[in-house]
Amino acid sequence: MPLPQGSTQPIDRVLSHLEGVRGSGEGYMAQCPHHSDRQASLSVKAADDGKVLLHCMAGCDTRSVVESAGLSWVDLFPPGSRERFKPRVWKGTITMNAQGRPALAAFGDDQVAALLGEIARLAKVRNTLDKPVATALKALAAAVGVSPERLTEAVRGALATEESA
Ligand SMILES: [Zn+2]
Repeated sequence: MPLPQGSTQPIDRVLSHLEGVRGSGEGYMAQCPHHSDRQASLSVKAADDGKVLLHCMAGCDTRSVVESAGLSWVDLFPPGSRERFKPRVWKGTITMNAQGRPALAAFGDDQVAALLGEIARLAKVRNTLDKPVATALKALAAAVGVSPERLTEAVRGALATEESA
């Protein structure tokens, strides 16, 4: 089961929020939304892993550029990327739970299912829910704001599904 591709790649989503976009080399130049930009000073590129790299030649802080574009930091990262495990990239974007972490619902069922599938496959390869699997579970639990125990149950469920598939 490959990770699902989001309906929109991060680069497409980012470009749709910018003005004056034109192709440039392997990426794009656009008007920087954070300063009064007549020259398209914002370099926009997709890295090999799909992550969007932004750089304002006039020196704007990237976080400010992202906010001024009406985007969130998490919009720069493709589904399933490591950064999406980090609660801080979600800050200010989505519903947070009482521990200040993203609520599970915010991730979307398919995304959580894909991550659980990845962990279940790791568990299957290792033939056990051992330490590396437990670490992956903890990371996912922290990111989605549920208990590792609940995720362990979900992984056992996912394993059972893979067995019967
Ligand atoms: Zn700028």
